Amino acid sequence: MKRVATWPQLRARLIHGFDRAASPLLEVVTRPEVFGRSAWLPSLPRFFRRHYLAVRGSWPPIEREPPVQLRTVPGIWRDPVQEQAAFEQGPLHDFVGGNPVAIRFLYRHMWRSMIPVSARLQRAAKVRAAASSVKHSALASEPVDPETLSAQVKAQAERVGLSAVGIAAYDQKYEFAEFHDRKVGDRVIVCVLEQNYESTQNLPSDRAEQAALSAYGEIMELASTLVELLTSRGFRAVLSGPEGQNAMIHYAVDSGLGQLGINGQLLTPMAGSRCRLLTINTNAPLALDHPVDYGIHAICDACKACVRRCPVNAIPGKRDWHRGVLKTKLVTKKCMPIVAQASGCSICMKVCPIQKYGLPAVTDEFERSGRILGRGTEELESFVWPLDGTLYPPGKLPVIPPDVATPPGIVIHAPAGPPPEDAAVRMWS
Ligand code: SF4
Ligand code: SF4
Repeated sequence: MKRVATWPQLRARLIHGFDRAASPLLEVVTRPEVFGRSAWLPSLPRFFRRHYLAVRGSWPPIEREPPVQLRTVPGIWRDPVQEQAAFEQGPLHDFVGGNPVAIRFLYRHMWRSMIPVSARLQRAAKVRAAASSVKHSALASEPVDPETLSAQVKAQAERVGLSAVGIAAYDQKYEFAEFHDRKVGDRVIVCVLEQNYESTQNLPSDRAEQAALSAYGEIMELASTLVELLTSRGFRAVLSGPEGQNAMIHYAVDSGLGQLGINGQLLTPMAGSRCRLLTINTNAPLALDHPVDYGIHAICDACKACVRRCPVNAIPGKRDWHRGVLKTKLVTKKCMPIVAQASGCSICMKVCPIQKYGLPAVTDEFERSGRILGRGTEELESFVWPLDGTLYPPGKLPVIPPDVATPPGIVIHAPAGPPPEDAAVRMWS
């Protein structure tokens, strides 16, 4: 007997149908030149935004070494010779600017999550741009102690409620070629802000997407205060926008903020990948932080929840060498259409035990039982698929129709040259 659809299932189908039917109109209203003018709109009062606001406050340091059986390498496996050779063969390029058609496709599906947060995001982008535009012709005249200055930057980060900051050396190999000329100094400060917990456990959903976008607005404002601190001391400092101008995860791993998960995301010890990053490039002589082994690689090897739960098999289960780094490399062509159409997807973030429980709890359980906390449980691994409103428990995945997996006319490629002239697709930077 054919089962009657539930209300969540009907609702999901209606929304998906509307997105398709209204596609030409949504394509226009979600263009950066339209959304980009929303800064004057009033914001919702904080009460109505509480469901998706970021978590403020700095994380406690992780002082415990990982147990011996979880140790691999600090940061990530790197081969400097291969890294250099890959760079000389061709630099990294900006994915956003190089994929205008795919990015517009993404934006026009994000309208439900963008509308409530757009005005605040645009205002935060203006704060970021204003703080970053301050120029000084000369460095601060008094001698600067790098350790003291770094401590001051970190104290400011703590004061304003950023979750963590790390300091790494600027490396052109990890900057997108389109932004090489924007370099102002040899240091990169990575700023991290933890995203709303409850909303993230509802991934994939519009509410979780709002949490991610809201966190970007909040981190732009908070990180701008670090830029202001440095420019007030006579240094140059430029804050990147949410679309990024470099491989932010490289700098985050290099400065000990976390390690690269099998899901291709930065896994921080306190929140996994449930956080947003921005980078500040500066000529301030800051003391460098260092990569750390938190035991995350070995936890990933025993877990692989993200590999099993990805509905389009976009996460390889095995690491390989890519541009001199040993890692898993997400198959963007499979992932991005799903991210666009399924409310940001990010099931690979939702099912990550480090995201949900935090590294200390996962490590404790591993030491006690040899198991990964939550692995295979409904609590951790189930999700409601936004395209059909159905709950998928562990072991079950939605069937993805071919026109959703490969939307007609949407070509996704690794950008190999300057973006085309009409690539005005950067919304916030
Ligand atoms: S889900 Fe498991 S394998 Fe995937 S990133 Fe998280 S810990 Fe690693
Ligand atoms: S975002 Fe979704 S489609 Fe993309 S890798 Fe993660 S689980 Fe797979």
